[in-house]
Amino acid sequence: MTRTVYVNGEFVPETEAKVSIFDRGFLMADAVYEVTSVLDGKLVDYAGHAKRLERSLKELDMTLPVTLDELLEIHRELVKLNDLEEGGIYLQVTRGSAGDRDFIWPDPETTKASLVLFTQSKPGNAMSEKAKAGYKIITVPDIRWHRRDIKTVQLLYPSMAKMMAKKAGVDDAWLVEDGLVTEGTSNNAYIVKDGKIITRALSNDILHGITRASVLKFAKEAQMEVEERSFSVEEAKAADEAFITSAGAYVTPIIEIDGEAVGAGASGPVALRLREIYIDEMRKAAI
Ligand code: PMP
Repeated sequence: MTRTVYVNGEFVPETEAKVSIFDRGFLMADAVYEVTSVLDGKLVDYAGHAKRLERSLKELDMTLPVTLDELLEIHRELVKLNDLEEGGIYLQVTRGSAGDRDFIWPDPETTKASLVLFTQSKPGNAMSEKAKAGYKIITVPDIRWHRRDIKTVQLLYPSMAKMMAKKAGVDDAWLVEDGLVTEGTSNNAYIVKDGKIITRALSNDILHGITRASVLKFAKEAQMEVEERSFSVEEAKAADEAFITSAGAYVTPIIEIDGEAVGAGASGPVALRLREIYIDEMRKAAI
């Protein structure tokens, strides 16, 4: 099926969607993005994603070219036009095209931001046996820039880290700086020790995950203990459990780090319980 995508005010077949070669997203990764999960044809944790998008835009002096109400309607229209039951919606806002290449940002009055959205179908994502069985990861140095709190499309290093994981025959990689885990290539990282959930505190060093915020809230509501602090690779390897969160992976257990089993080397009860709670709650709250 040819997807219908959204490009700057129009819903068009993906084969007809066009963006200028001078678009700053293309030339300079001068763009931010969001990915919202879709479950049962509805948007998961949408308010959080819209809020983070506004923050990313503000940090880079960019303006959303539509209103927030319009943005929600575009998401919903794409779900409808593509009969999307399960998967995600990718959204990207770039600083647009001033018709040439220049390091200096164009005047936003004359150069409007570009807005592109498309759907990605992932049937069975919430019920994925692979996710429930847990992922194996390696650790690699975190050499990204220092504004990881802004969700920019500068994804070359996370992409390289995923390739390193692929070559090592595992599923993903955790990024490490000064001996401490920052986050996963495209997810937030957690360990569980003696029943306590430990995850790095929010700062410019990591992306402020929308799934992270919801999962920590649900964990506290379920009387689980949460500690927001950094942890080392050694501590992670000696933990009882480890897991990741993201809009696409929800809560996915980590069962092996750098070839060493975490805990019993199988998905842990805390991670699996949080996965179930998150998906159940989101099925109820999705819009
Ligand atoms: N950290 C990074 C580096 C990511 O790319 C992502 C996913 N976009 C996350 C964390 C998780 O964020 P969210 O739960 O909002 O998907």
